[in-house]
Amino acid sequence: MTTSDERAVDAVVVGSGPNGLAAAITLAAAGRTVTVLEAADEPGGGARSSRDVLPGYVVDACSAVYPFGRSSPFFEDLDLERDGLRWIDPPVAFAHPLDGGRAVLVTREVEATASQLGRDRDAYRRLAVPLRRRFGELIPDILAPFHVPVRSASRTARLAWFGLHAMQPATLLAHRFRDEAARALVAGAAAHSVLRLDEPVSGAAAMVMLGSAHHDGWPLPVGGAGSITRALATRLTELGGAIELGRPVRSDGDLPAAALTVFDTSPLQLDAIAGRRLPGRYRRSLRRFRYGPAVFKLDIAIHGTIPWTADGVGHAGTVHVGGSFEEIAASEADANAGRISPRPFVLLAQPSLFDRSRAPDGRNVVWAYCHVPSGSRADMTDAILGQVERFAPGFRDRILAVAKTTPADLERRNPNNVGGDMSGGRMSIGQLFTRPDGIRTVLDPYATPHPGTYIASSSTPPGGGVHGMCGWHAASSALRHVG
Ligand SMILES: Cc1cc2nc3c(=O)[nH]c(=O)nc-3n(C[C@H](O)[C@H](O)[C@H](O)COP(=O)(O)OP(=O)(O)OC[C@H]3O[C@@H](n4cnc5c(N)ncnc54)[C@H](O)[C@@H]3O)c2cc1C
Repeated sequence: MTTSDERAVDAVVVGSGPNGLAAAITLAAAGRTVTVLEAADEPGGGARSSRDVLPGYVVDACSAVYPFGRSSPFFEDLDLERDGLRWIDPPVAFAHPLDGGRAVLVTREVEATASQLGRDRDAYRRLAVPLRRRFGELIPDILAPFHVPVRSASRTARLAWFGLHAMQPATLLAHRFRDEAARALVAGAAAHSVLRLDEPVSGAAAMVMLGSAHHDGWPLPVGGAGSITRALATRLTELGGAIELGRPVRSDGDLPAAALTVFDTSPLQLDAIAGRRLPGRYRRSLRRFRYGPAVFKLDIAIHGTIPWTADGVGHAGTVHVGGSFEEIAASEADANAGRISPRPFVLLAQPSLFDRSRAPDGRNVVWAYCHVPSGSRADMTDAILGQVERFAPGFRDRILAVAKTTPADLERRNPNNVGGDMSGGRMSIGQLFTRPDGIRTVLDPYATPHPGTYIASSSTPPGGGVHGMCGWHAASSALRHVG
């Protein structure tokens, strides 16, 4: 990775997560000199992979599956394939196994997905056909802050249609279905919001996850999450930017002088580092910003493959392991209420089935996590393995090694994961309109009241996920202000 000397630069970016790198690339592409200061000894934040966690296997430290990997307008414009990024498309975007040996397999084809839903086939079609048709055009608006003006009537109509469904709690969205399979599908997709499924806006995650699966699949990067970061870092370097590793910024004093400072950090850190630049009212609102439940994660080396009972689950990049709507809703309600779920909803990825560079022959690596209360110290290993075993009897017998990541590990490695939160703060209806300070609906959520100081992390709109759009919007805001 490039290391710069202490040369004067136009812009300093604190943090090299996907949004920090997106901001840095946008600024560098506009002709600004940029240095990224990264606390860790490798770049990437939530997009990193390692061969050290389970020797011989590529383990994704945080993110592993990318519903917006290809279709994020920022990534699409960058054309990261030019810098060596390669995507793989599992034939099934995600699978949802159910008790009794059945599973629903979600592919790009709405018809093929709907045909598995029995009496709910037509109801699913009515939701998913227009969603798939409109999704490509909806993406720039879904991945934008709410204040961005929507100018054309057709865009307004599309967004209104989406908003009508997305603002609903997942419980309401599921009401249109009569049987367990379709309702469970909605629950698994909605649980990506890390909200209670009876909360408003939890339906948005279901709409976005189903829409992205039907629109473009859920691709995986060849070689793991770190490949995304390598491509972004390569592009930044090509544009003249630099990344300095092992450079934690703890206070204003750690920041080189620059006209622009962009924070790929939590609001808490923005307050701690740049507080002296900021008015008291804004600082208080940064401190009141609310974080969500945490993640407890396992990386598992197995021999052979996961022995799923249901056909087709082995063709899925991602598996939603949690059973019925009611069980998943209970699990997410527990995590949000500070309780440990005895049967947690587990998000599982099996990337090495499709990317043989990640595991030795005859073996595979599995990525799985569940939601737990913020800061939880509970060991969820047994609960996660038990849920997988429920739909894949004999799974435990195939385990060769397990590595655990607790909420405390996540926060220690990256202070943006406050209490183990993976999304940069609760994606509740209140904070959807007021990220990142949690109080005000601001016209430009990226600009702080201090001229030249910006926040670009997933604590700003559009929120969590590897899409780089928070960073791109923040840098665009900075460039608008400096001309
Ligand atoms: C376990 C887990 C699983 C996930 N799974 C997925 C998934 O499958 N798909 C998906 O799309 N998203 C997933 N996410 C979410 C995704 O990783 C994040 O939304 C995304 O990485 C946020 O990007 P960011 O740039 O805002 O911040 P981050 O990726 O958190 O990066 C912030 C960077 O800033 C650095 N930093 C922080 N403070 C300082 C400081 N004071 N000084 C210097 N450097 C600092 C950190 O070290 C880090 O490198 C997951 C997250 C987690 C934790």
